[in-house]
Amino acid sequence: MSQNLPTVGHWIDGQTVLGSQRSQDVYDPATGKAERRVLLADKATVEAAIASAEKAFPAWRATAPLKRARVMSRLKVLLEQHSEEIAALLTAEHGKVAGDAMGEVQRGIENVEFASYAPELLKGEYSRNVGPNIDSWSEHQALGVTAGITPFNFPAMVPLWMWPMAVVCGNTFVLKPSERDPSSAMRVSQLAVEAGLPPGVLNVVNGDKEAVDALLDDRRVQAVSFVGSTPIAEYIYARGCANGKRVQALGGAKNHAVVMPDADIDNAVSALMGAAYGSCGERCMAIPIVVAVGDATADAVVAGLTAEIRKMKVGPGTDARNDMGPLVTKQHFEKVRGYVDQGVKEGAKLVVDGRGVKIAGHEGGYFLGACLFDHVTPEMVVYKDEIFGPVLGVVRVKSLEEAMRLINDHEYGNGTCIFTRDGEAARYFSDHILVGMVGVNVPLPVPVAYHSFGGWKRSLFGDLHAYGPDAVRFYTKRKTITQRWPSAGVREGAMFSFPSVK
Ligand code: NAD
Repeated sequence: MSQNLPTVGHWIDGQTVLGSQRSQDVYDPATGKAERRVLLADKATVEAAIASAEKAFPAWRATAPLKRARVMSRLKVLLEQHSEEIAALLTAEHGKVAGDAMGEVQRGIENVEFASYAPELLKGEYSRNVGPNIDSWSEHQALGVTAGITPFNFPAMVPLWMWPMAVVCGNTFVLKPSERDPSSAMRVSQLAVEAGLPPGVLNVVNGDKEAVDALLDDRRVQAVSFVGSTPIAEYIYARGCANGKRVQALGGAKNHAVVMPDADIDNAVSALMGAAYGSCGERCMAIPIVVAVGDATADAVVAGLTAEIRKMKVGPGTDARNDMGPLVTKQHFEKVRGYVDQGVKEGAKLVVDGRGVKIAGHEGGYFLGACLFDHVTPEMVVYKDEIFGPVLGVVRVKSLEEAMRLINDHEYGNGTCIFTRDGEAARYFSDHILVGMVGVNVPLPVPVAYHSFGGWKRSLFGDLHAYGPDAVRFYTKRKTITQRWPSAGVREGAMFSFPSVK
């Protein structure tokens, strides 16, 4: 481990907390050099963050929803003012190119904007005269201390899927960002205090499994939101639920794009380039598999993609001319390159091989060029596994039904899309496909902030999706109050039958 690097600590009770805990290096993926050190919280540090959130809860819960929402309105403005600074942190630690990083920050800001509508969303339901002199209403009450555990691939946006909605609903929050790129979440938390969020309402603990387990086992934490890989999502869901918590755990993906013979192939190819190789394929909504219906379609798609890949620019994300940056860490780079080797061994045809890419001046960076496989088949590991890198495989099928069977049989069900000019085929596809988010001629159908985000099958454990309207349901408990104010002087006798309206 490197010495004398700037340290990323924790954010507890509205201030930075350092300490003598375990730590690990945070690398610039474009150079392979360690630039920071992140502390890995021990149980006591996580407990201090939970205690701060518990202490802040009563006053925050009692704060008028409109005042809570105004903090979000101010945070939106601050995030807009600091968006380039936050995007630069994303490029420095994740590696994504500058334009992509700005897109991530913008999508995060949209979640903050949605959170500022909370008073409308929290209004509840009211019915007058449900019985004689009886009125009834349902309200959304805050849960208490809530927590979020987030992945490396959207270090600014995914935390903003969670905590703005949690706190605007009256909860307090403990966030555990990815230890691989922790700085943007820390910076946003500081801006939240500047926007008027009282200390303790949002705490950030950096760390690994030890910190996560401390959150999962602490009885004061009422609900946990998780986004990350499927094995960890399943673990979080099981352990959190066993400890009596409400849990939503979003997992991995292997999203298929179906290209029909009638599709506009040029447009489909352009869309697939961004969806497969944008952010170096490190998106849970990326398209790593094209299912081409008919050999002529497959040949045209492969030819189009090959020509486009040749024009792509790979290099450090700080250079605005580049389309694709490095993978996040050396370990991940080696894992993804290993999958390319595996695909070759399994007999898929490697049409474009990005393994030899070298970037002058950035020899230590984790760069892998775009890779394209043709003739991928469903029993191959490169078909089944989530690779999470710039590796696109083409599977050839004979019909839409065969394409849909493949998708429906796959263990993941996060996103999918179809390229076609046939409305009937598109409608049939969206109706019968077993996937949570579907695009028609839209390669990355990531729902906007006022719809909720979530996959099916092993892409999500739990039943409520992330952000949007589902977030109000996840971060609140419904309470229904039935109230009678009898008229003065009216005496009602004892009633032994079950109350009903006759
Ligand atoms: P990951 O599962 O390795 O890590 C996610 C979080 O879990 C991190 O905060 C990490 O510190 C923690 N963690 C890791 N190992 C743990 C363990 N053994 N016990 C407890 N906590 C642990 O995921 P990642 O590599 O950071 O992110 C990439 C994955 O996230 C991909 O699988 C991707 O598909 C998925 N993802 C899914 C969505 C979605 O919405 N479905 C969105 C983004 C990313």
